[in-house]
Amino acid sequence: MSKLKGMLHSHESCGTVDGPGLRYVIFLQGCRLRCKYCHNPDTWNHDDHKLTQTSEELMKDVLRYKPYIQNGGVTLSGGEPLLQATFALEFFKLCKKEGLHTAVDTSGYIFNDTVKEALEYTDLVLLDIKSINPKTHLELTEVELAPILEFANYLQSINKAIWIRHVLVPGWTDKEEDLQKLAEFLSPFTNIEKVEILPYHRLGEVKWEQLNIPYPLKDTLPPSPELLEKAKAIFRAQGLPI
Ligand code: SF4
Repeated sequence: MSKLKGMLHSHESCGTVDGPGLRYVIFLQGCRLRCKYCHNPDTWNHDDHKLTQTSEELMKDVLRYKPYIQNGGVTLSGGEPLLQATFALEFFKLCKKEGLHTAVDTSGYIFNDTVKEALEYTDLVLLDIKSINPKTHLELTEVELAPILEFANYLQSINKAIWIRHVLVPGWTDKEEDLQKLAEFLSPFTNIEKVEILPYHRLGEVKWEQLNIPYPLKDTLPPSPELLEKAKAIFRAQGLPI
């Protein structure tokens, strides 16, 4: 039995948006990105974890909800869950023993041999591509785009099911040319089950204030329904499942 402790931010026993069906969602602590619109900045710092658990301890918690989630599953989110790839691997192995569907909600920035192994026990990857424009990506997230595209291409090469997520942030990720490029990049992929274009919202702003970090998008408003629809149409036109 492994003694490795995962560093956790929190659990949510009945999530409905992070994968199919009703899901037990675990938010792991730590992220290398610094997205300007992040709604979980309290997950950034690895050392700020609220609790630590071994994969067996976590599984005990999950199993209390098994009757509710057996048609949904379990999702590792964050922060960036693949920063703790060894823990994710151990935990997903236990999930598969229990016959639970597994999903990981990731920025795709962490890619190594342990991540590859963890993906063998992962049924679905929720891949959040922040921008296809390298300059915008760097400004918006403070990390390079290239490793994320490499990760996306790897998922395609192993035919791993993915849901693509893209947050539409006015002034940042709503340029028609960039949306078109992203849709064209994704269009040849045969493993995409769904593309979600999510409207930017400001619900995380209060957490930035609590952490005494100036919120960088103070003047940015959520996109209009028309803008959202226009963006979705670009992806639809490339045959992508919106
Ligand atoms: S990848 Fe997610 S958790 Fe990390 S900074 Fe971006 S939005 Fe926040």
